[in-house]
Amino acid sequence: MPFFQDPPRLANQFDDDPLLPSWLARHIPEAQHGEVATELHALGDVAVEYYAKQLADRLNEPVLTQWDAWGNRIDQIEVSPLWHEAQVLAARHGMVAAGYEARLGVHARTHQFAIVHVLGPSLDVYSCPLAMTDGAARTLVSSGNKSLIDRYVSLLTSRDPGAMWTSGQWMTERTGGSDVSQSETIAKRDGDQWRLYGTKWFTSATTSNMALTLARPEGNAEGSRGLALFLVELRDGAGRLRNIQVNRLKDKLGTRKVPTAELTLDGTPATLVGSPSDGVRAITPMLSITRTWNSICAVSGMRRALALARDYARRRRAFGALLADKPLHADTLAMLEAEYAGAFCLAFRAVQLLGILEHGHDESAERLARALVPIAKLTTGKQAVAVASEAIEACGGAGYVEDTGLPRLLADAQVLPIWEGTTNVLSLDTLRALGKGGALEAITAEVESCCAAATDPGLAEPAAAARNALRHATSWVQEAMPHAERVEAGARRFAMTLGRSLELALLSAHAQWCIDHGQGPRLAAAARRFAQSGVDQIADMSLDDTKLLV
Ligand SMILES: Cc1cc2nc3c(=O)[nH]c(=O)nc-3n(C[C@H](O)[C@H](O)[C@H](O)COP(=O)(O)OP(=O)(O)OC[C@H]3O[C@@H](n4cnc5c(N)ncnc54)[C@H](O)[C@@H]3O)c2cc1C
Repeated sequence: MPFFQDPPRLANQFDDDPLLPSWLARHIPEAQHGEVATELHALGDVAVEYYAKQLADRLNEPVLTQWDAWGNRIDQIEVSPLWHEAQVLAARHGMVAAGYEARLGVHARTHQFAIVHVLGPSLDVYSCPLAMTDGAARTLVSSGNKSLIDRYVSLLTSRDPGAMWTSGQWMTERTGGSDVSQSETIAKRDGDQWRLYGTKWFTSATTSNMALTLARPEGNAEGSRGLALFLVELRDGAGRLRNIQVNRLKDKLGTRKVPTAELTLDGTPATLVGSPSDGVRAITPMLSITRTWNSICAVSGMRRALALARDYARRRRAFGALLADKPLHADTLAMLEAEYAGAFCLAFRAVQLLGILEHGHDESAERLARALVPIAKLTTGKQAVAVASEAIEACGGAGYVEDTGLPRLLADAQVLPIWEGTTNVLSLDTLRALGKGGALEAITAEVESCCAAATDPGLAEPAAAARNALRHATSWVQEAMPHAERVEAGARRFAMTLGRSLELALLSAHAQWCIDHGQGPRLAAAARRFAQSGVDQIADMSLDDTKLLV
């Protein structure tokens, strides 16, 4: 009988990893915890079912039909069958709605993102439109524009698959995605409404019902201050695009199920969301939300990659033993588990802060969130790519072969450090957030209080590594701050060090909670391993050397 390798399989995606259950046991009040755990266990099975569907649906990608048989311009985008199902599942399971429901109060966001963590990786990056939908709902709520809130927020946060709307966000133009100040889209008044004219260069989820976008009202000043925030309903009552042309779909490395289009707006009717300027400021809530989604998707992508790599290690034999029993293979997987555990704690801490801020005024949470949200996004995005790359290598040649479905893990992860702010752009954002005052102190307080909580002797070393890295980063930035070029050049190493020391401190505190609550020593092992893998990345590189090299 010839040999055939068993493919990697998934077990229940809630029970399979003790980290999320322990996080929920710690943070969701006892009265509601049982119900939430039962719901997530059921979703853990749905995630397995949809992983199989995902593999079966692998070759279906969005298709743009620009013309009908009679020469009419129609610009219809047909998404994959799994995306149609994902839309129904997302509504039914409250992947956006749960974050807005009163039942769990301040913990609603933790509940919502636990659902996203378990189910998201099986839905072919349907998380992309959901993130923007959530961001649009939050942006409208923050805008205080009552008529827009009344009309749209209940649609965006509905649990009814027939009623739920999704939203896009169109910021990037050919002139830039990081720097939108040169945006060329113009808004012209037309009676009571506005009309937009311009090209949007990257618009994901173009099948959405609406979008929030930036445009410059005629006569406004150059630069980002002159841009205003608009809401666009994409289609009229008959389902026709409202003066929008879909020029083409992007041919992308990953996220291939997501229809990402280039659009021409040619008199597209639009509603002003707030004031006729300062649109970049008005869309900030969108960015906080989508960056938090990005962090959770990074973590859940790592989790999926590790679930498959671990299972494979228990099925694949080499040199007379299962891979899982080979010390070096086990060591490699352990390192990845530690990265995941650190990233998980930081991403879910960002989620917790979001919940706190949405349920009342808390200045210290606000100061902390200001820097922690970009730091979490940039740190976890990089980790997601590194972990996915290692995980597919852990599956050997099969990891590189498309019809195993495994390469998708890496291709999809690669977008995480790019969209919603690249690593460098967010590193500079972190510096700006710290410049506003109080944020570095808030991060220091967070790291110190987590480290103080980690009292088990087995956590002394990780706690010290987190503290020392943070102190080194703090002294570096204080010393470098007067030298603009030096501080800018080192901003990524600085932000990464803050991110990794936050991850290690939060992981150590959670490991302590697990030890104290009979959940075992596994996370303490993760903290010890994490402490060995480069927490402190501060280094003063020569600016002259940089000039010689670039
Ligand atoms: C799959 C996909 C889907 C997308 N969907 C959307 C969408 O729905 N809506 C939307 O608005 N956009 C979307 N984008 C666009 C995305 O947000 C931008 O590509 C991203 O923000 C980067 O902008 P850019 O492409 O103009 O790159 P640039 O801004 O030109 O950046 C190029 C490089 O320069 C670096 N850089 C830039 N400025 C600095 C600086 N000051 N210092 C140091 N380094 C710097 C960046 O880090 C990057 O590495 C999508 C992108 C992708 C890949």
